[in-house]
Formats: sequence, C-alpha cells, structure tokens
Amino acid sequence: MASPTGRVARRQLPLERALRLGECLAFQRANASATWRAQLILSRRARWTCGHSCAVVLAMKSAWSDEAARAAIAQYVVEGDPRCNEDIALRVYSSRLIGRESGLVLHGGGNTSVKTTLRNDLGEPVEVLCVKGSGWDLARIEPPGFPAIRLGELQRLRALPALSDEDMVNAARTRLLDSSSPTPSVETLLHAFLPHKFVDHSHADAILSIVDQAREHAEALCRELFAALQLAVVPYIMPGFALAKLAAEVHDAHAREHGECRGLVLLQHGLFTFGANAREAYERHIEAVTRAEQFIQGKRAAASTSLSGGAPADDGLARYTELAPRLRGRLRGPKGARFVLHLRRSPAIRDFVDDPALASLSQRGPATPDHVIRTKQRPLLLDVADANGPGAQAKLLDDALDSFRARYRAYFTDQVAAKGVTRTELDPDPRVILVPGVGLVTAGASEKAARVAADIYEHTITVIRDAETVGRYRALPDGDIFDMEYWSLEQAKLGRSKPRALDGHVVYISGAAGGIGLATARAFAAQGAHLYLVDRDAERLAEAAETIPGPRGFEALDMRDRAAVAASVDNAVRRFGGLDGVVSNAGTAPQGMIADCPPQVLEDSLAINLLAHQWLAAAATRVLRAQGAGGFLLFNASKAAFNPGKGFGPYAVAKAALVALMKQYAIEGGPEKIRANAVNADRVRTNLLPPDFVEKRARARGLSPDAYFRSNLLAQEVDAEDVAGAFVHLALAKNTTGAVLTVDGGNIAASPR
Ligand SMILES: [Zn+2]
Repeated sequence: MASPTGRVARRQLPLERALRLGECLAFQRANASATWRAQLILSRRARWTCGHSCAVVLAMKSAWSDEAARAAIAQYVVEGDPRCNEDIALRVYSSRLIGRESGLVLHGGGNTSVKTTLRNDLGEPVEVLCVKGSGWDLARIEPPGFPAIRLGELQRLRALPALSDEDMVNAARTRLLDSSSPTPSVETLLHAFLPHKFVDHSHADAILSIVDQAREHAEALCRELFAALQLAVVPYIMPGFALAKLAAEVHDAHAREHGECRGLVLLQHGLFTFGANAREAYERHIEAVTRAEQFIQGKRAAASTSLSGGAPADDGLARYTELAPRLRGRLRGPKGARFVLHLRRSPAIRDFVDDPALASLSQRGPATPDHVIRTKQRPLLLDVADANGPGAQAKLLDDALDSFRARYRAYFTDQVAAKGVTRTELDPDPRVILVPGVGLVTAGASEKAARVAADIYEHTITVIRDAETVGRYRALPDGDIFDMEYWSLEQAKLGRSKPRALDGHVVYISGAAGGIGLATARAFAAQGAHLYLVDRDAERLAEAAETIPGPRGFEALDMRDRAAVAASVDNAVRRFGGLDGVVSNAGTAPQGMIADCPPQVLEDSLAINLLAHQWLAAAATRVLRAQGAGGFLLFNASKAAFNPGKGFGPYAVAKAALVALMKQYAIEGGPEKIRANAVNADRVRTNLLPPDFVEKRARARGLSPDAYFRSNLLAQEVDAEDVAGAFVHLALAKNTTGAVLTVDGGNIAASPR
C-alpha cells in the first residue's frame, strides 16, 4: 500500500503503544483474538493507518528547523544578487515545508507570499510582494518562483469597485519588477490586501473536512475550533478580485473586534495563516490543521461503528485486467485524445468503493472547486459485478458512459443558459471512475495526469470520510463548480504543450534492452508513447529503461514462454489500462546447414523467431479487440525471409514464416482496424551475431567490415535508429497493413516480392 505521498516507511509498533495512539476497533479486535496482524504505516505527517484501513490521525507536526532555515539563507542569498534576500530565502524554505506535505497541498495547489524590500533597476529600495508564480509547485519552489510585484500600487487596487480576471492578471504583470517573471498566482491580490508580512495558504484535507459542510454547520465548527486561534471565517466566493476584497474586509473586521487576526478559514476552499516571520505563519498553519485533525480523530473514536473490517482477498485485479481495455477504448480526452488509465486499490480506497453509501458520498462534488479541472465535477460509478461476459460488460459500459456524458452536457448547457455566458464545452468524459470490488481508476491524457487525478481523489476520499465523521460532506453547487471549471485562469494551469503523434498511446516492445529494440523504445518515447518494455536480460533491461524518458514499465521475460508472455501483456494493461500496439522484436540468429542442422537449433529458432511472435501477437490482439480502437502489430522480420543465404536455414525458415504470420494477422485483424506490418532490416551493427561473424563475411566478399556495412544501393550504413524510425512510421501509417518495409540501404535481391 502506498501513501498519498508515495513515500512510506513500514514498521510495526508494540500493541499497547498502538492502542494508545487511537481507538481503532480493528486493533482491539485483533488484540482480543491475540493475533495482532495490523500493519502500521508511517508517513512524514505522522498519520497512522492500520491494516484495516481505519485511519488514526495523530497530529501534523511542525517540521521547522532553525538549522535548515539558516541553510536556506546561506543557499539562496548571494552577495551582489539583488533578486533574493533573507525574507525570500525563508519564504522558499517554509513554502517547501508546506509543499512536501500532501495533506496540505497537492500538485501545484496552495500559495504563499512575503512582503519585503528589493532594489529596482535604479538601485532604489522598493516594497514588493513576492508571491508564488503560476507553474511552480510549493514542494520544489526556488526564489525565481516568487515574482516580485510593487506592493504599494497593488494595494491601491483595493479601492476599485471591481476588476475582471484579465485586468487582475494584467495589474499584477505590469507591476512586476522583472518582466520575465512567471505570472503571479491567481490569489495575488488576496495576499497583497492582507497587512501581514508572511502569508501561507493551503487546501489542507482536515480543514476541507471541516468547511465542506452546510454553511451554518461549517461556521459553527470553525467557531468551535478556530476562534481561540484568532482565525476568521470567509464565506465561499470564487478566487479573484471579489474574494481578495472580501477576505481583507473579514480580516479587518476581525482585527478590529478581537484585536488580532492570525488567519482566515475559507469555506469550501482552504486556510490562510499569517505571521510577522516565516516560522510564525507556518506554525499557525500547522496548529490550525492539527486542531482540525484532532477534532476529527475525537469524533471518529466516538463513532466507532463506522469502522469496517479488513479488505478480504479478492479477484479485483483480475476483473480490472478484463475491464480496463474495454473502458479505455471507450474513453476520449480533449479533441479525441487517447487516455491512459491508472488503478489504485489501497484498503481505504476499497473500503470507499465498496461502501453501500458510495452512490451518495461520491456524487456530491469535489472537495474544493479547483480540483474540478483534474477530476471533473463527479466520478463515474461503474458497478460491473453483475455484468457477466464481454457482451454484458460492453453494454454496461456503453450505458454508464452515455448517461455520464449526457449528464455532463446537461450541466454545461444549464450553466451556460443560467449564467448567460458563452463557453466552449470541454470533453464530457470522466477522469475518476469508482469500481466497487476493484478500486479507484483514473483517466488522463498521460500517466502523469491520471496519477494527479488519483492523488487528488485519494485525498478527496479522506476529506469525505472525515467530513462525514464531523457532520455531512457537502460540496458547492454546480454553478460554482462550473465557474471554476470554465475559468480561463484555471484552464491555463493545465498547460497546452504541442501534441505528439503517439501521446497517450501504449506500446509494448520486446527485446528492448539494446540494439534495435532500445532504439525503437526511444523513438516511440519521443512521440509521446507510454512504453512497456520486456527483455530476457533483467539487468540490461533495467539499465536501458533508465535511459528512456517518459512513462515506461518493464519486465524481464522469456518470450518463448507463452503463459509468461500473456501474463506480461496483462501487466502492461494493469499499468496503463490497455495497449495500442506492439513491436515484436526479440530474436536470435542461429546458423547451420539445413540438412545437418541439429533439431534443437531449428526448434529453438522457431520458438523465438516465430512462435514467440505469435504468443505476443495473440495476447495483444485480445486486448486490442477488447478495446475496439484498432491498433498495430509490428514484427521485426529479416531480409532472410525473401533472400535466404547458405548456412542460415534455421533463421531464414523461421523469418519467412514470421512474414506469413504477419500477413495472417493483417487479413484477420483488418475488420477491427488492427494493422500488421513487418520491417526487414539488414546489416545493422547489433550484438545479434557473434563478433567474428561480420569480419568473416566481409572478408569472404573482399571487404573491410566498414565497407561491408555500406555495401548497399545507397552506399551508406544503416543503424538501429533507422530501423526504429521505420517502426514508428508503420505505427502511424493508418492505411498500411500486410506490408514489409525494408531498411537495408537498398538490396534488390532482398526486396519484397
Ligand atoms: Zn486556494
């Protein structure tokens, strides 16, 4: 089980200490039976979860260290560089403390600021607001991530009655000290209008559980929990100029009445805390979150009946393997983009998706509105338990997606009409899919996007569970969600990088640890493909995979083992949700005169150079058919298929049969748009042949080895990258099937006929 941070240390605790930690029923049950098997998992925030998915939150602790703070100053403040000072260095330090804690902020969420003095280009001191720039993540922020904006002019904007989003961005950008800075956070004015030096803002899970309630209940809880901490409550409005003004007014009123305001709790949104120095703002933040966590923990202990038992062993993974390609094949992202799926099934997730109240709990909306751009406003519920057989499952998927899309379109149309605005409708497909008995499935244009959605939804589950513990979870109405989903400043966060030909496509490559296989893996990665790489040499494969950028899974495998090949295709499906094509590349080059050839040599050659391709193509075809979105089968054949040579029988016979196999797949896969093609490469320097082989062949022709590699019509050497390019070309050639593409510099004797 992985924590939301992905980094957990597992260790077992003595039972009595575990019991002191919380009122976990599962611990007590286990104790009664005297077999304590609960596994405790410790994340950095000291959040304890037993093996029965009963979360026992201790408390978030301040991670402040004076030594680390001094080190940050030493690292970032460079003499003679006017862009950074101690304030900014400490701002970076404590922002990272917040950013590294997934219970506080996720994936670029949250923002922080400091008001300080820098020098302008005339060398004059200027009061500035340094606030998180968009595109930066608090966990990894550096001084350039805090654009400096002239503060005085920014604060004067508060006198305006209104300011559009575009004007607000312009107001911040035109007041930058450095025109090349990133665009300041959409919450810049909120930071500017508050009088405090350091301002920290997060969307902490525990705070959301308190504020995602009916307004009166949320306000009552906030009074109970936070009044003593001098925090004031701000009702929900969308981020922007109006929220900045309202927050400042609430702050000022609270300070007038109570002498001081140390922070703001924003309903349905998150937490702001302030301080005269970095440590004070940060520790007030942790104190507020801790108070919320302890309150929730107390309520949970009282409501002991809500705890469920441990997750039993199940067939969820097998069911997912069957379901995933069908689901993936039906999903489409923006502009028809292909999606990658990501599966999570921690005990907490399984407890949630199997909860009889799932339909109610999951359909109320996101924990905070800015999640909507990653998760859509609601998850798709997909109960496939009763859909037996492919036909029933396909129908269930079609119906579920039809109604999900219809509901999304109705939401869009209703909101556009109600608000009297014009917007371009986004794609209607779900990003979060909850499958009882299986787990949490997320969809994204890349594995990264799918993982972000999964991270957010795992935290949403925590927020929902905790909100239900202290009251009733409630999200904002559709109107507010729509405003956020279609807010131009929010959509800009998703980025608009140039699409590549194979973005979101999943490609399985055998023999990927070196030579043509590795070059092919690199070429597909460069086109945006998600890769599943296999090779029989585990060590070389792991090293090779390290050198490939982008998402890739890998597995050591003997392609002659039919069951292992099928299992590995299933593993690729579990990793990415499906498959779009294979490059069946693994092979050997045995030699021997055919009449005298030892049977074992011929059998071995047929096993790897023919049958292994069949095992892979057959397993892949099953997935491609289930997906129903076409696909490609690419085979590394050989010129020997057409132009056999003396002493190469065991190889040529198998490769000639491989070309026949390819044609068979082309014929039978055509109606389902599954294309099959082969590449015939020749005289590529790889370690397929023994080192002295080339030398001998070259000498037999009276050539040096270099000249041997150039003895073709074009008189130039063919390399592995040329072959890789041919595979990519065939993967994209949507009207080509049953073809053999030669990559040999030109050899008429070997040209296909
Ligand atoms: Zn916020």
